[in-house]
Amino acid sequence: MQGRVLIVAGSDSGGGAGIQADIKAVTALGAFAMTAVTALTAQNTEGVEGVFPVPPAFIREQMGVVIADLGVDSVKTGMLHDAAVIEAVAEEITLRLPGIPVVVDPVMVAKGGHRLLEESAVEALIRLLIPLASVITPNVPEAEALVGAAILDVADMRRVAEELLGRGARAVLLKGGHLPGERVTDLLATAEGIEAFESPRLETRHTHGTGCTLASAIAAGLAQGMSLRESVIRARHYVLLAMASAPGYGRGHGPLDHAV
Ligand code: PLP
Repeated sequence: MQGRVLIVAGSDSGGGAGIQADIKAVTALGAFAMTAVTALTAQNTEGVEGVFPVPPAFIREQMGVVIADLGVDSVKTGMLHDAAVIEAVAEEITLRLPGIPVVVDPVMVAKGGHRLLEESAVEALIRLLIPLASVITPNVPEAEALVGAAILDVADMRRVAEELLGRGARAVLLKGGHLPGERVTDLLATAEGIEAFESPRLETRHTHGTGCTLASAIAAGLAQGMSLRESVIRARHYVLLAMASAPGYGRGHGPLDHAV
């Protein structure tokens, strides 16, 4: 096992998304997962029933003890709940993890519609966390919220990816799965340009935790010394396989199969 990933995210009691998906993905790809839990959710495949936030000081404590002892090769952030959590996490990364790759999944709203980041915290995400990111991984609704513009097609995705680069992220993986069409296009934008990755659309309702899984899989690759491009290619492949073999548990959006 090689590569230590510090996951800063929320717990999903249903095991499909959040910290649980993150740990499964990082482990399946051969890296070592450590966690700073930002909130507990009472959640199943049908939706989020309740959220119990962790105080920012205790999130810092979880990060601090792990960094001081085990060491960290990459960071992945997911659900951050509110602006105070974003401030705490951004400060810990800045002070204690300079130069370590950071994957920021700008989680905002769960598929069932429950908010996982307060609306007032989007500004803090843009101002404090995006400039620290090696890569941010928004889906279409998240990218729209970050730039305040509608995305209707891949041409719009290109414009928005470039705009997000301008906000200080070193790279943007803009995921096109929410747009209609038989194929799904994700764009990886860096200072070198924009590369498009395409895959067939899988007709399945078992998509719970795909975003968490993809971001953690990228963080695992970066922790293992892979380039961002290699990490993205392996992570997309992993998520596709995990969706294709989803076990079908639950009445709603079911979990993926991480043991692929
Ligand atoms: N719950 C938690 C704790 C999460 O971090 C996330 C992911 O981003 C979700 C739920 C959302 O999962 P999905 O939108 O895939 O249902």
